Amino acid sequence: MANKKITIIGSGFSSLAAAAYLAKDGYKVTVFEKNQTIGGRARQFTKQGFTFDMGPSWYWMPDVFERFFNDFGKKASDFYVLEKLSPAYSVYFGENDFITIEDTLDKICATFEKEEPGSAKKLQEFIASAQQNYNIAIKDLVYRPGVSPLELITPATAKRVGQFFSNISRDVRKEFKNPRLVSILEFPVLFLGAKPSKTPSFYSFMNYADFGLGTFQPKGGMYSIILGMKTLAESMGVTIKTDQNVEEIVVEKNKVKGIVSNGTFHATDTLLSGADYHHTETLLPKKHRQYSEAYWEKRTFAPSSLLFYIGFDKKIKNVAHHTLFFDVDFEQHAKEIYDTPVWPSSPLFYANFTSKTQPELAPDGKETGFFLVPIAPGLEDTEKLRETYYDKIMTRFETLTGQEIKKHVIFKESFCVNDFVSEYNSYKGNAYGLANTLLQTAFLRPKLKSKKVENLFFTGQLSVPGPGVPPALISGKLVAGLIAKKNN
Ligand SMILES: Cc1cc2nc3c(=O)[nH]c(=O)nc-3n(C[C@H](O)[C@H](O)[C@H](O)COP(=O)(O)OP(=O)(O)OC[C@H]3O[C@@H](n4cnc5c(N)ncnc54)[C@H](O)[C@@H]3O)c2cc1C
Repeated sequence: MANKKITIIGSGFSSLAAAAYLAKDGYKVTVFEKNQTIGGRARQFTKQGFTFDMGPSWYWMPDVFERFFNDFGKKASDFYVLEKLSPAYSVYFGENDFITIEDTLDKICATFEKEEPGSAKKLQEFIASAQQNYNIAIKDLVYRPGVSPLELITPATAKRVGQFFSNISRDVRKEFKNPRLVSILEFPVLFLGAKPSKTPSFYSFMNYADFGLGTFQPKGGMYSIILGMKTLAESMGVTIKTDQNVEEIVVEKNKVKGIVSNGTFHATDTLLSGADYHHTETLLPKKHRQYSEAYWEKRTFAPSSLLFYIGFDKKIKNVAHHTLFFDVDFEQHAKEIYDTPVWPSSPLFYANFTSKTQPELAPDGKETGFFLVPIAPGLEDTEKLRETYYDKIMTRFETLTGQEIKKHVIFKESFCVNDFVSEYNSYKGNAYGLANTLLQTAFLRPKLKSKKVENLFFTGQLSVPGPGVPPALISGKLVAGLIAKKNN
């Protein structure tokens, strides 16, 4: 086979997925990861017997994971044990005032009906339509590489053109009046990185993922998926090198010759980067970059985040494995992320306590806590600001859930904009890539194949199809397909 040797930058979900597909296609694949451990934004760390997934925590769209492993004649269960969470999550709106989202649509409908009479029937209809979109988008459209606008034109999408020009927020508000139900239904598209009012209606497939399919948790945490993918890739001959910072991409006559990592040159036939797209282009000589700084500046990026990983010396009450705190004005916080980027005056936040359902992730009788405040990318990030927000959310948490937690903290580690930049070379410290807005969908996103350098490819959450773990798996598959096509 021509162009047999492939080098991959990064070991996040998209890079590992691509590595597996390329190895299956017969390439000799070597992964270069700058950090000590693999997994990228999905790394895990342990401290004093507490285990933390550092990034993703919601396992949605189990069929996408299954399809990935099936492509190699395997099942997800060959690599990790998956459990459906019951309840899926809960959402706080005030002191001791929360809604629990259960693990089946029927139960969720009953909850809705109690909040807003007549809403159960509307919810059934909304989710039935969301399911149709899921079948069109996640089973088919997202597996197209974003090369041409024609990819999006199918008999099914032609019938739904209007859904690309309306938005989730409008649709939800048309059917549901109770503000609590509205914010629960707007929550899933936040994973796509933009405001619900900027997210096309077609993306309601996220609501089907949420209520129709449910929320899952791999035993051992999300990192178990990374370990499974590593085992799979290595079983097919992939070499993974950590502590390898790629500093330069060497190009001659519009062709990558190799990379320089930790000062050493490594020749390659094809280069694929799963590192943030913007960063990868900075490794190239200027004339080989496709997108200018002005281009990136104008994109809508998904938020960054202020994160706290906390070991508690007791079990935390009145919370689920996943708990959202939507007791403040969502619109105001969204403005402070997207319109006039500033630290939020009164932030929404999210917390997970994985040891609630998997006690082995914390020492006996103790709890593993992860707190996330979404913020605009590129904000000033200082120790003082982190502490201010730590106090804000801890105090709110104590009042809302009716318990003391601050004095039960054994340790806390924080992670924010500066860490996203230094750990992952993230553009402005974004947490999860380039948002899926109408103008940043499919063929309108940064391309998987470089237009300027013939054997250079990209994958990951700034490219096609977009942010999130399932899209990262798909991105790896799509780019491997393009590489195979070019080399055949
Ligand atoms: C806090 C947080 C919460 C999230 N929650 C969820 C969730 O609940 N569910 C969900 O589905 N998704 C979630 N996401 C999104 C999801 O984690 C990401 O979309 C996905 O992990 C991105 O994978 P990737 O391969 O595109 O990029 P990354 O994971 O960022 O991988 C890129 C890799 O490239 C490496 N790299 C960068 N520069 C270099 C270099 N010069 N040399 C060598 N290596 C380099 C980086 O170290 C990194 O390992 C979350 C993300 C974050 C940050």
